[in-house]
Order: sequence, then C-alpha cells, then structure tokens
Amino acid sequence: MNKSIWKANEKEKYPEKINNDNNFKEKVDICIIGAGITGITCAYELSELGYSINIIEKNEVCSGTTGNTTGKITSQHNAFYDYLINSFDENMAKKYLEANEKAIRKIEERIQKENIDCDFEKLTSYIYTDKNEEIEILEKEYKALNKLGFKSEYVRELDIPFKIEGAIGFKNQAQFNVVKYIKGLLKKIEENNVKIYTHTKATDIEKNGKEYIVKTEKGNIDASIVIIASHYPFLKLQGLYSAKMYQSMSYLIAIETKKELPKGMYISISNPNISIRTAKYEGKEILLVGGGDHKTGKPTTYEESYGRLEEFAKKYYPDAKILKKWNAEDCVSLDKLPYIGQASNFLPNVYVATGYKKWGMTLSNVATGIIVDSIKGKENHYADIFSSLRMKPVKNHEEMKNMIIDSSKGLFINKIKEAEILENELENDCGKIIEIENHKVGIYKNENGKVFAVNPICTHLGCLLTWNQIDKTWDCPCHGSRFRYDGKNICDPAYEDLEILEIEE
Ligand SMILES: Cc1cc2nc3c(=O)[nH]c(=O)nc-3n(C[C@H](O)[C@H](O)[C@H](O)COP(=O)(O)OP(=O)(O)OC[C@H]3O[C@@H](n4cnc5c(N)ncnc54)[C@H](O)[C@@H]3O)c2cc1C
Repeated sequence: MNKSIWKANEKEKYPEKINNDNNFKEKVDICIIGAGITGITCAYELSELGYSINIIEKNEVCSGTTGNTTGKITSQHNAFYDYLINSFDENMAKKYLEANEKAIRKIEERIQKENIDCDFEKLTSYIYTDKNEEIEILEKEYKALNKLGFKSEYVRELDIPFKIEGAIGFKNQAQFNVVKYIKGLLKKIEENNVKIYTHTKATDIEKNGKEYIVKTEKGNIDASIVIIASHYPFLKLQGLYSAKMYQSMSYLIAIETKKELPKGMYISISNPNISIRTAKYEGKEILLVGGGDHKTGKPTTYEESYGRLEEFAKKYYPDAKILKKWNAEDCVSLDKLPYIGQASNFLPNVYVATGYKKWGMTLSNVATGIIVDSIKGKENHYADIFSSLRMKPVKNHEEMKNMIIDSSKGLFINKIKEAEILENELENDCGKIIEIENHKVGIYKNENGKVFAVNPICTHLGCLLTWNQIDKTWDCPCHGSRFRYDGKNICDPAYEDLEILEIEE
C-alpha cells in the first residue's frame, strides 16, 4: 500500500526498542497496546502523572490509521447532530459536541505547551451540498445545531471551484500534520521514561489476580492497568466488539496545482462524499482530496475509489499533478458512537477506545480524558455517552442489516459463489479465490506470473476474505482485517498472518 504524505518523508526513526529476548518480562503500572494517536495521547497524559508505562506496537508508531488520516481536527463529524438528537436526545448531542470542541482546544494547548511544529492551523470547517435534493438534510442539521445552542454559520457560497447549494460552517476548527504532532508528544513521553516496543504484537491479555499479563510474541508484560489502543480491539471475544463494529475504508489523493487553494476544510454530505483540505508537503501548499468510502472487504474498482477523486481533481483543478495516493480504514460502531472505557465487564482496569468512524483526531482526545479520569478515580462528564459497556438496542438498523448480510456472506454465501474459478484463468497481477479439491485457495499471480497461494480464511474470526485488486490485498468483509497478497497481516483486528499454501509444480 502507498504511504501517506505524513509518512512519506519520515527520515527520523521513532524510538525503537525491539526486544528479541524470548524470556523478556517487565512490570509496569500501565501497558498500552497500540501507538496511534489514542495510545500516544494516553501515554503522554498518564506519564505526566508519574505512572510507569510500556507501549507495545505491532508495527511502527503511526503505522495504522493515524499515519494515513486526513488530519482535520473538528467537532463537525458530517451532518451528525440531527442524527444524535433523533436517535438519542438533545442532552446527549450537546455532550458529544462539547466533548469534541474541548478536544480541539486540548490539542492546541498541548501543541503550545510542548512547542510542537506540526503545521497546526485554525480554520473553519464546512459540510456542504451541491445537490438541491440534499438541502433538506443540511437544513435539519442547522436546526439541530441551533437547538443545541451552537453558533454555526449557514452559507450559500464557498471558496471552492464549483457551485454549492448550501453549507454549514463551524469556526475555530483546525488541521495539522498528525505525524509531526505525535513526534512532538513522543519527545515528552521519552523524557518521562515510557518504553516503546515497536514490532511487538500483543497476542492476549491474561488475568493474574488483580493484575494482568499482556502476552506478546516476544515475552510478557505485567501491568495493573491495560489500555487497548489497537484501533479495532484485538481481543477476539471479550467485549464482543466483532458483533457490533465493522471497518470502513476511504481513499485520499494529494495534488499540486497553480490554482488558488481554498481557505477552509470541506466535506460533502453526499454518499460517497468528497473531503477537501490544504496541507504542507515538501515546502509546497497542496490540496488533499478524500472520499470513496465503502465497507472494507466490499470489492471495489479503481474508478469508484481513486478514480473518482482523480476525476474530481482534474475537473476543478485541470493542472492537478497527483503527488501521492493512499487509503486507510476506520472502525464504525452500529450506533455510530465510539466505544470508550472499560473493555468488558470481566476485565476491570482494562480500557478500550475505538469506533471513531473517521473522526478520531478529536475522539481519541475525548477517549484519553475519559480513560485518564477513570484511572484517577475521577468522574468524567462525558463517559456515559461513550461507555463501551452500553447495551442499549442498536439505533442504526441500516448498518446492523449491512453487517449481518456481509458477515454471513463472508462465512457462507461467498464460499459457494466463487467455487468454479480455476487457477489458469487468472491473469498476471490479479488475485482470486479458487477451489481445489473442495478447499478454498486464495491465489495471486504477480506481474511475472509467480503464484502466491494462501488459505483465504481470516485469522481473526474465520470469515472468508475477498481479493482487493487495487491494493493487492486480502480483505475481511466482516471486521476489516487486511493481509498482503503473500498472507502478511497488515490491518487489525487480526494479528496473525494467513496460512501460506505450498504450490506443487
Ligand atoms: C482515510 C481516513 C481519513 C481520516 N480523516 C480523519 C480526519 O480528517 N479527522 C479525524 O478526526 N479523523 C480522521 N480519520 C480517523 C482517524 O484517523 C482515526 O480514527 C484514528 O487515527 C485512529 O487512531 P487509533 O490510535 O485509535 O488507531 P491507529 O492509528 O490505527 O493505531 C492503532 C495501533 O495499534 C497497533 N496494533 C494493532 N493491533 C495490535 C496488536 N495486537 N499488538 C500491538 N499493536 C497493535 C497498530 O499497528 C496501530 O499502529 C480518518 C480515517 C481514515 C481511514
């Protein structure tokens, strides 16, 4: 997969303390699993309070969704507040908005305190529509925001190169280079003696009296408190996250143009949407165009993903030169709210933070506040609305239906449908599931005709994988795990590689 602009020019290595000692054992107050924005922000705040902390990361710092984000810092999470008021209530929507607004200020505060150079810019964030039939959605959202007492602006023109029907602006939002920001926090984290073990996979969390043993492939870490900041919780059963969350993929392109760039951040309310922001890259001011959302594992074409973004860029910025393109996925819960707090009723002092539905810059900060307060034994005003132990009926019936259909397709229907495909029908640089002696086999033939064969069953919970021709990966339609063509695991919640099948001459 391609690298994002945030990761592309990463010359400096993150603190890396690879541990190759199989008998390795350490004891700390807190073990954090995952070094994305959630894990690193928790580590920053908790290390300032004097806790001893280890972070374990299966790849590198910011190698997950954080390193591939768009990096808008906003409480404007699409047209969301009308949904929240209707699905929950006004009080709840108010709390969500307030928690995210405070998160923006908290990020700004940290940047100032630690003097972090991360291209942080305060801007207005807009949701817009260029379709007359969507005006009603926008108007409802504006009414919802007024009900909540939030001062937003309704406008009919924007400084983007096409006509819109309407837009809602949130002032005092921001954008940044998240990787530079995390690097700034890492400096302080290191000073506070937090150890970061990269290329170290957590494989289990075992109870040991009132404490926990975090098992990794290389050794164990004893901890009183565990924070699962692994994006999709890597635990297979505890908390049953696999029954209430899926992953959604989005695409981004970075373009260079001589045309004047807009001054804000923009996202359309259409489905699929278009998201726009400016950024700094190699000394130039560039434009990021994102969108093309779909559930991970749902087969898609180049035209529907990057192609759509390229077409948009060429239409409105005819001189556009594409500098980079990349994609990433984020977790979406069925009621569209993150899961933050105690991971399961059976795991006191084990915390989770997930399900940010592509708004994790602020929500990871909301999560940090909730987790830190809980560790300190302090009440947090926002904890109840995000509780990971919530058992309320799922409000989002449409998503629930989608997830059930896709899960069962993965487990049963697809197994039969792909059956008659034969290996020799496969063109070079293509992949497919074929059936050999009643066994499903995932085949990829590279550009030179070399064949790679894997058992196309996800190592997370056994769903049948689908082939992703754009990235040459095997993707799970149930929970969003992803594997390279040669079986190497690249995206959570799975952490084990696929079984590689030998090919007889
Ligand atoms: C295309 C795209 C654009 C987005 N744009 C925005 C935006 O503009 N604004 C916004 O607010 N949000 C945005 N988001 C969402 C945001 O980027 C994410 O919600 C956020 O980065 C998630 O951070 P995280 O730390 O929870 O997860 P990650 O960054 O994925 O970090 C989790 C880490 O855990 C590690 N890990 C996983 N399993 C294990 C294991 N078993 N052992 C050890 N380590 C493990 C992973 O390698 C990873 O590094 C976007 C998301 C996408 C996909």
